[in-house]
Amino acid sequence: MASLSSLFDPELLRRYDTPGPRYTSYPTAPQFSPGFQEADLREMAAITNGDPIPRPLSLYLHIPFCTSPCFYCGCNRIITRDTARGAAYLTRLYREVAMMSALFDRDRDVEQVHFGGGTPNFLSPAQIAEVMDVLRRQFSFAPASRLDCSIELDPRFITPDEVGELATAGFNRASLGVQDFDPEVQRAVNRIQSVEQTLAIIEACRTHGLQSVNVDLIYGLPKQSLEGFSRTLDTTLEARPDRLAIYSYAHLPSMFRPQQRINADDLPSPEVKLGLLQCAIDKLGEAGYVYIGMDHFALPGDSLALAQQRGDLHRNFMGYTTHAESDLLGLGVSAISHIGPSFSQNPRDLGSWEQAIDQGHLPVWRGMRLEEDDVIRADVIQRLMCDGALDYRDLGRRHVIDFTTYFADALARLRPLEDDGLVELTADGLRATSHGRLLLRIIAMCFDRYLPTAAASTPRFSRTV
Ligand code: SF4
Repeated sequence: MASLSSLFDPELLRRYDTPGPRYTSYPTAPQFSPGFQEADLREMAAITNGDPIPRPLSLYLHIPFCTSPCFYCGCNRIITRDTARGAAYLTRLYREVAMMSALFDRDRDVEQVHFGGGTPNFLSPAQIAEVMDVLRRQFSFAPASRLDCSIELDPRFITPDEVGELATAGFNRASLGVQDFDPEVQRAVNRIQSVEQTLAIIEACRTHGLQSVNVDLIYGLPKQSLEGFSRTLDTTLEARPDRLAIYSYAHLPSMFRPQQRINADDLPSPEVKLGLLQCAIDKLGEAGYVYIGMDHFALPGDSLALAQQRGDLHRNFMGYTTHAESDLLGLGVSAISHIGPSFSQNPRDLGSWEQAIDQGHLPVWRGMRLEEDDVIRADVIQRLMCDGALDYRDLGRRHVIDFTTYFADALARLRPLEDDGLVELTADGLRATSHGRLLLRIIAMCFDRYLPTAAASTPRFSRTV
């Protein structure tokens, strides 16, 4: 595997810094339509129950509440300090869980549970444990050795002892939001979080036996400097998280209202922003991390790195995962399900989600049934985002197509990228070069049939770097 520093080519990153999808799904969410409704979701569940080998399930639970607004936030969240709202939310979430679980055969094991948000630990550990109990009663869970239970944690609002309660409830993975430890940056984004409280939570995850800890950092935030971000990276790497996500901040204040509170003059210049990314890549390389793809890094022994080596890494709305064959059931406001060849999304506003559940309906807002062409392109983009490479014969066999004929247009669109050194094309396949691996979505965009229309509509996509 190439060293991490070989990923970085400032000239190419500058040239290809264009808006593009993150491909947590293909087709991407702007293609979902209100024509897909509850009856469609029920039908897709029934179809997938008929698979000869029972397909496992992944559960995503969206907890939308946060105590305090971070100004860089682009998530679907509700700011409140009223903890009673958590209890009211759970009452309806349990009804949704019951309606959803009734659709799936009990021989379909749950192999993955993920709590995201918002801030899942807006709920108390007792409430989170109660949710896990409800899930265990309503679904068949795989044995602990095959079960990944992960939760996004805000270290500002959880104690080390409470991490122990989550471990007892069955969680074996955690992802911690950090972003930057520099006090000036923290003030500019309204997220004051000390090094001590963050390290105490990482330590507690280890003490209580969690198998994997992820830390999220962001580059491109207001007031960020090379010196400050370099210190953040050193502090983070000393704690040696199993995984690190280094996201690029996308300043889109017209799309995300909280970002209007960021002073655009405080944002780092494009040059400094590239420098921040280079600093991160260099330091992660020195510390022995490997590049998984799309902002994600892991220690070589982590399950994501091992899955990538085996060629069975997968990407979905939760990011990179090892659970390739499962159907994803999204529960809670704005959550997205991926069941068989379909996507469906719950309403993004709490009122509509509540109303549907109160009326006894699965809260489907919009979605889509994938056509055969969508399924083929989704597989191609999935392999690109996970392996950074395509094997034409393998894909051709899987989908009964002649790859180079079927994708003649896409291969023509790739030629300029080949000339620029992002990708190597051969008769049998293609491979992102080391420089191209940071620009995987630019390569994937060549295979996206919807892109011309999606790019012209709102919401728009964030930039590549
Ligand atoms: S960044 Fe996370 S914690 Fe901050 S407001 Fe957004 S969802 Fe909440």
